[in-house]
Amino acid sequence: MDGTKPTAQLRSKTKILADGAEPSIWGFDGSSTNQAEGHASDRVLQPVLTVPDPVRGGDNVLVLCEVQNIDFTPHESNTRAANVEVAERFAAQEPWFGIEQEYTLFDGERPLGFPEGGGFPGPQGPYYCGVGASNIVGREIVEKHLDYCLEAGLKISGINAEVMPGQWEFQVGPAGTTEVADHLWIARWLLHRVAEDYGVTVSFGAKPVKGDWNGAGAHTNFSTKAMREAYEPIITAAESLGAEGKPLEHVAGYGDGIQDRLTGLHETAPWNEYSYGVSNRGASVRIPWQVEVDQKGYLEDRRPNANCDPYNVTRLITDTCCTALEK
Ligand code: ADP
Ligand code: MN
Ligand code: MN
Ligand code: MN
Ligand code: MN
Repeated sequence: MDGTKPTAQLRSKTKILADGAEPSIWGFDGSSTNQAEGHASDRVLQPVLTVPDPVRGGDNVLVLCEVQNIDFTPHESNTRAANVEVAERFAAQEPWFGIEQEYTLFDGERPLGFPEGGGFPGPQGPYYCGVGASNIVGREIVEKHLDYCLEAGLKISGINAEVMPGQWEFQVGPAGTTEVADHLWIARWLLHRVAEDYGVTVSFGAKPVKGDWNGAGAHTNFSTKAMREAYEPIITAAESLGAEGKPLEHVAGYGDGIQDRLTGLHETAPWNEYSYGVSNRGASVRIPWQVEVDQKGYLEDRRPNANCDPYNVTRLITDTCCTALEK
């Protein structure tokens, strides 16, 4: 992840290893990634997770790295280090996350499926979970991406076509606080990489088309061991997210342009008003209907944007909810 503000972008480069060698630390030019000045440009790539590389296949691997300064302290753009700290502090509560990553495929300036000469496709309605050429575009990319995620051993749990044409979703989880975010970042990289072969770009923009078109979010489903066993801890967690100062602290870490997406329309709650409710897709936090029936399970924080940094999102939720549940 680079130092681009307000939203970090993914970068990668390739290293040829001797037979049997493990990935080791490596360097790069931080002045070309918004992570350093030219006069002191070296930054460190610290390997943190290695998975099979489904693009090259064979013995090749993809290596997720944290960015560090040359004294091995976390670079200021490195949000994973703080995530690991919180995850370790609350590991005994066994937090699980499932993140629903929405995204939009673009052909140049235009979402896939929008008419070539300008203008708009028919209004939203038939596209969500749709089938057939009049409703669906980009499926080849989406299916290839799913295959790649599975081959890489990522904890991907599903895909679906979304409400706006050209918009799709994949879900990663359940997985722990750091693991879900690691897997999501790799899944994002694989999506960019697959789409590249088709000359298509992937937007994680939160409101890719202005007007009466759904935005793109990253609904974040969360539970702890206690929440998976009883209902009261779910209410405690939902209440903790609404405590004094918490709604704005969370929203500030939930991605760029949150005000544009959390308007109160298009299945969202207003960004500056916290609410939770059973089955309610117009609330900040939804307790799924089945969870109320079962009296145990998880909650869904519907606020994170598609362009969020999942290291920030899962750190904030783990910290706020697990602190409240500890009492
Ligand atoms: P929605 O009905 O909101 O579209 P999805 O099916 O797209 O939900 O995504 C739900 C996500 O929640 C999945 O990634 C799933 O693995 C995850 N999930 C399921 N149970 C739990 C749980 N107990 N704790 C955390 N995440 C969970
Ligand atoms: Mn060079
Ligand atoms: Mn979903
Ligand atoms: Mn969705
Ligand atoms: Mn959802």
